[in-house]
Amino acid sequence: MAATDTDTSIRSSCHCGAITVTAPRLPEYINVCQCTICRRYGAAWGYYHADEVKIETKPNAVTKQYVWGDRDLSFNFCDNCGCVCYWWPTRPPPVCTFDEGEYLMGLNTNNVNPEILRFVDRKFEYSQMVVPLRSKDTAHPDDAAKY
Ligand SMILES: [Zn+2]
Repeated sequence: MAATDTDTSIRSSCHCGAITVTAPRLPEYINVCQCTICRRYGAAWGYYHADEVKIETKPNAVTKQYVWGDRDLSFNFCDNCGCVCYWWPTRPPPVCTFDEGEYLMGLNTNNVNPEILRFVDRKFEYSQMVVPLRSKDTAHPDDAAKY
């Protein structure tokens, strides 16, 4: 499918191409989340309603999941090339504190052609880093991260 002037969709792909995620529009902003897991992944999330995106996997592709803490969402990555592709809510909303009751998912925009995203605002959420890492207000008690 060739992109046209009216085609605003964006397509993300893991490195080996086994997992692709397509969204109908640019994200409102990109969140380079600094929580204990996203910092390790180096992920840069764009948020979408879960029913907005289309996830496709090639035959024989294996999607691995990592779920931790309060198990609100799963991080999904390609078992072949290891790229983190998206997170997905594991139960109905509200899932995250920022989602205001909407059924959101996160698409890793690092798997998108960067030229398409060059004018999208990029936010670094460092609020977790100005308080002690083990603060009960910012760290999940079941956080497996060890520094
Ligand atoms: Zn892959």
